[in-house]
Amino acid sequence: MVITSLGFDKPGKQQGFLQVPYSHNLGGWANVMIPCTIVARGKGPTVLVLGGNHGDEYQGQIAIMKLARELTAEMVGGRIIMIPSLNFPAARAATRLSPLDGMNMNRAFPGDAEGPVTSQIAHYLRTVLFPLSDAVIDIHSGGRSMEFVPCAHMHLVPDREQRRRMFDAMLAWGTEFCFIYADIAGTGLLPVEAENQGKTVVTTELGGGECIPASVHRIAQSGLRNVLVHLGLLKGRVPAREKPAIITQATNREDYVLAPESGVFEIALDLGAKVKKGQTVGWIHHLERPDRMPKQIIAASSGHLITMRAPCLTQQGDCVAVIARQVSEREVLRS
Ligand SMILES: [Zn+2]
Repeated sequence: MVITSLGFDKPGKQQGFLQVPYSHNLGGWANVMIPCTIVARGKGPTVLVLGGNHGDEYQGQIAIMKLARELTAEMVGGRIIMIPSLNFPAARAATRLSPLDGMNMNRAFPGDAEGPVTSQIAHYLRTVLFPLSDAVIDIHSGGRSMEFVPCAHMHLVPDREQRRRMFDAMLAWGTEFCFIYADIAGTGLLPVEAENQGKTVVTTELGGGECIPASVHRIAQSGLRNVLVHLGLLKGRVPAREKPAIITQATNREDYVLAPESGVFEIALDLGAKVKKGQTVGWIHHLERPDRMPKQIIAASSGHLITMRAPCLTQQGDCVAVIARQVSEREVLRS
């Protein structure tokens, strides 16, 4: 059972922790302490801002830590709840999954109040934090396994009014690419739980790999602010775009290219590049048999290369590329 000394109804700025009991060999009565900042003043929306759902994705964690230090009560209208490192044990270990229970926070929903640490956090989000919130921002990147062209992204939720809200918030981030995605790897996702509760859910994939260029930090930090302005929590204006966003969609299984065999993956295209069905996306080389021709990976659909595998060493079944076709706003909102 997660506990906190933070008061969600108190005005002003509070810094504290969400505490999850975790009994282990060197701490029989220990808690995992997840930092949380709340800033509230007057009427307005409640926005929950989450980073570190996957521990090895630091872009959002840095953006939220900076925002949490900067914000004062005078700057907000409504309430913002900021958790920079949601899967805190994973963030400290630079891993995607929690080192405490091996769980993926983004597959842990609906969660369990008496379950493993990750499951308890998921339960707390579902039963306490999501119901308090109008909007949920969950900042991801490709972590160590994938690298994305920096994009805000969303699911095609069935409710059209909610889809419109999510679409507008996605565009407000200000990334060159936006991405409509499908879940090909399991259920129990955090955004799906928040969507099912009717929230305006804003998610991102801001780069990836273990090296984060300054430009990606800039879009993480400016985009987060833009969305908070768009949602009415912060004052200001969302800057006008120089070029319209490239809206892409990968909702068919063949858009997600999996490695047919293990080896060393070489990408043939730059991130964001246009791809035609039948085009070579990359090759898998055989370390043990360099005399053999590499396995050619062929695109099964046309669109833009939205993400690629980050490490070259690849196992059979790893996702090595995702190809997302360009779609119009009308198609997204009416399909
Ligand atoms: Zn992630």
